[in-house]
Amino acid sequence: MIPELESAFLGHAPILEGFRQCVARGRLGSSYLFVGPPGVGKKTLALRLAQGLLCTNAASPVDPCQKCAECQRIRAESHPDVLVIERPRDRAFIPLELLVGDRDHRSTEGFCHWVSLSPQSNRYKIGIIDDADYLNTEGANSLLKTLEEPPSRSVLILIATSEQRQLPTIRSRCQIVRFGGLSEADLQRLLLQHGHCTSGEQAQLAAAAAEGSLEMAHYACDSDWSDMRDRTWRGLAGLPQSRWELVEHIQQYLDAAGSESSEKRRAVRNVLNWSVQFWRAALRNSQQNLATDSPSVLTEIVLSSTLRAETPDALSNCLERSIDGLAQIDNNVIVAGFIDAWVDDLALGR
Ligand SMILES: [Zn+2]
Repeated sequence: MIPELESAFLGHAPILEGFRQCVARGRLGSSYLFVGPPGVGKKTLALRLAQGLLCTNAASPVDPCQKCAECQRIRAESHPDVLVIERPRDRAFIPLELLVGDRDHRSTEGFCHWVSLSPQSNRYKIGIIDDADYLNTEGANSLLKTLEEPPSRSVLILIATSEQRQLPTIRSRCQIVRFGGLSEADLQRLLLQHGHCTSGEQAQLAAAAAEGSLEMAHYACDSDWSDMRDRTWRGLAGLPQSRWELVEHIQQYLDAAGSESSEKRRAVRNVLNWSVQFWRAALRNSQQNLATDSPSVLTEIVLSSTLRAETPDALSNCLERSIDGLAQIDNNVIVAGFIDAWVDDLALGR
């Protein structure tokens, strides 16, 4: 769980308030689909709700004491009435046995069976699937009955990045709760407040790169991370001559990100976000002098490049190509080969 629990809820007060009112009116639903960008606190909020429902000392269903045995067991993910399942790192999808038991124990083990049992606390059972983007059709279908006829006092929470990725049969059985990202101003404040960044400029750049996610903002404060980013910006500024060097540098970055495809995707998203920042700054510089902005590494790189000679159309093309790239990555385009094609487009297509 993100340590800055309270901070993680900055942007989500209306969601908590919604749950508070639902419980107060006895209208808590039984199946929810939480959707929003990665790292904005969806799972943290799901666990907080679980704590609120099971806490022996809660001021309200969304204000757990955080101190009682129930709260602490939920925080440690060891509470008998709270189950979180997620995709094992070595599997492409959430395996069916996690949902309904393996062949020998079909329907007598797994998430759905667990949900069907009465809560040990005699209060609620909260089952969380993190994340439902990794349910395949078979897995999603195995959940339908449980979602349709949930046992009383059970709350199921499916966590996902996008509604569109879920099967219509899942969507139609869940109440959808949409999470927005945190604002850049909130992220900046949190980064400085918690000592993740030492300067306002570092916090500003990290917040701008984080797409509303505190988790991503934390990565962005790391000095290796900012070295990588600055090298990428320099590579972009040196195009088309720097083409090979840039591709090689990005490839090394992706290799270092790990063998998991989700980690590689996150690394590619970082590169594309840096690129979006870069081309925006270059475009702004072509229209007005950037030097009037507060000086930053990015300003310095843009000003020392020859990009000012480029037409705004050419710079816009590069910006659009990078924004399109983000959409392609979200739509699960194959990462291998993507970087080459994308850098070629930037180098030649303007
Ligand atoms: Zn408590």
